[in-house]
Amino acid sequence: MTLWYSVNSVLKIPITNYQLPITNYQLPIGIKLYESEEVLRTLINASPDIICFKDGQGCWLEANQAMLKVFQLEGVDYRGKKNSELVLLTDPFYQEALLTGEASDKIAWQDTTQYRGEEIISTPDGKFRVFDIIKVPIFDASGKRKGLVVLGRDITEHKQAEEKLLKSEAHLAEAQQIAHLGYWEWDIITGKEQWSKEMFRILGLPPNTGPFTHETFEEAIHPDDRDAVLLAFEQAIYDDKPYHVEFRVVLPDGTVRYIQAFGKLIRNAAGKPFRLIGTAQNITELKQVEESLRHTNEQLQLRINELAQRSQEISLLSEMGNLLQTCLTVDEAYTVIVRFMGRLFPNTIGMLSMLGNSSNTLESVATWGEGSENVIDDSLFAPKDCWALRQSRPYYMADRKTYPQCNHLFSLSAAVYLCIPLIAQGELLGLLHIAQAEVEPNNLNLAHQRLAETIAEQIALALANLKLRETLRNQSIRDALTGLYNRRYLEDTLEREFYRADRSHQTVGIIMVDIDHFKQFNDQFGHDAGDSVLQALGSFLNEHIRKGDIACRYGGEEFTLILPGASIEVVQKRAEFLRNKVKHLSVFHRNLNLGSITLSIGVATFPQHGSGFEEVIRAADTALYHAKKLGRDKVVVAK
Ligand code: GH3
Ligand code: MG
Ligand code: MG
Repeated sequence: MTLWYSVNSVLKIPITNYQLPITNYQLPIGIKLYESEEVLRTLINASPDIICFKDGQGCWLEANQAMLKVFQLEGVDYRGKKNSELVLLTDPFYQEALLTGEASDKIAWQDTTQYRGEEIISTPDGKFRVFDIIKVPIFDASGKRKGLVVLGRDITEHKQAEEKLLKSEAHLAEAQQIAHLGYWEWDIITGKEQWSKEMFRILGLPPNTGPFTHETFEEAIHPDDRDAVLLAFEQAIYDDKPYHVEFRVVLPDGTVRYIQAFGKLIRNAAGKPFRLIGTAQNITELKQVEESLRHTNEQLQLRINELAQRSQEISLLSEMGNLLQTCLTVDEAYTVIVRFMGRLFPNTIGMLSMLGNSSNTLESVATWGEGSENVIDDSLFAPKDCWALRQSRPYYMADRKTYPQCNHLFSLSAAVYLCIPLIAQGELLGLLHIAQAEVEPNNLNLAHQRLAETIAEQIALALANLKLRETLRNQSIRDALTGLYNRRYLEDTLEREFYRADRSHQTVGIIMVDIDHFKQFNDQFGHDAGDSVLQALGSFLNEHIRKGDIACRYGGEEFTLILPGASIEVVQKRAEFLRNKVKHLSVFHRNLNLGSITLSIGVATFPQHGSGFEEVIRAADTALYHAKKLGRDKVVVAK
């Protein structure tokens, strides 16, 4: 006890079993008694602690300056007087303290052992001082009261500091609770552990339930995180590495909480490790916010990516639209379509099929995607082979187990595919088919299906326009009955061909053909049968001319063939060939064989028979007239 130090250093009294009577105290030899009393008095007066000796009746024998000052008894003849008598000799202010002192004297006597207690002494300035008081009763051999030693230390400042500390500790505990911050300490030497209240709360335990040890804590750690946390503890102890770990704990009710823990090893002055301290914080809410933030971010990124893709698709779509509008033929359009489909639907293979004139067969006209050329087993199929065409709406085959497969055998291995009818102005034009071998990444999700439908609409409209344009153009340059070029086209072409031949010093052959006695077909079988004969001859001529040659219907039952680059000999040979070959042509009309036909033919060439197309045609026509004159079924070369 530090308080004992000053007194004990003088009196040499053993701290425990304080029994030594002061009067029996043996002073060093050579110091006279009066001198030793003087020394003792000087010493006790020098002490800042209060010291007072009383006799067996409680009368003051000796008090030091500090004691007298406390009760303002300096200069007062205090010796031989009790506290109750001294009350009258000082400020009445000290009455209460003096009487309290007398009462505690009694307790010390009664207990016959050392008394210790705190006593408060008010001061006239309205303040007070706190004293740590020790009273040691002394008895003689027969047990009679002999004396009392009163020692006291002013602990006012210490008390105030202690109070402050308590207050700040309370604040700290409160702050820890608010911050959900738990604190623990482990004395490595004694193995003693200390856990703050918040630590219990964090682990979902009632406050101060015990025994709560490190094992309890370790037990609460989520099994998946335990090894990592224990490793951090070990490293803190053995490698002196402060730790910061985040882990999960499982509460008694099964709830999972996220904890953030910091900890470090504390060494004593000698550098030896003696304590491991740590904090733990419940960061579950933070984690949840973090998680939802991460999720929101992910969603946002996804949306941004989607938007970027949409915008890319829109720009491709408009680019395709522009190109489709500048296409002159449907073939050009097919090329544009498959190029863009490959870009709009990467990792897919696909096919564009168009309905033929007969309206009962679809034919693949273009494909895209890796290896798409090879997977087409049969490029022709009937509308009934496709589920989309049967229902006249898009068909999404999302899963081979659940959905029936179309019979148009495009990609047998497709995991998913989409068939979209191409319909414009209510008329079915064809089919757009998009397939994917793998489901992941799914390029045929809902957004893609919408896109494909939009594209299909755009394609259908463009193709319908092109077809319409083609029809109109054909109508203006082709003969409706035979499909051959008409007279206007013939004249335009001849003009062009003669000009070209003139420049390259080439010849152009002209063959004028007239069916012999054609009128008879009309008369005998009817006009329709006559039409069939004209159609049959049209196809015949078209099939028996070379590539680069042009067959036209000149009018009625007269036909003209243009043979660019052909000499008169070649033209004549070709005419003879046709005249002979046509005899084998059987014309049927409503299952009725109309018999065969013969042809009268006149031939001429540019520039031999004229410099303009009218002249050469006239020459050929005149030759034809001669052929008729010679009895029909003849070839005559113009003069
Ligand atoms: P020839 O051997 O002298 O050429 O005798 P022809 O009967 O072939 O000649 P003609 O000029 O007397 O008769 C041609 C007939 O062809 C007259 C006309 O009614 C018919 N004709 C012209 N255009 C068409 C057509 O588009 N369809 C049908 N069925 N008949 C046509
Ligand atoms: Mg004729
Ligand atoms: Mg005729």
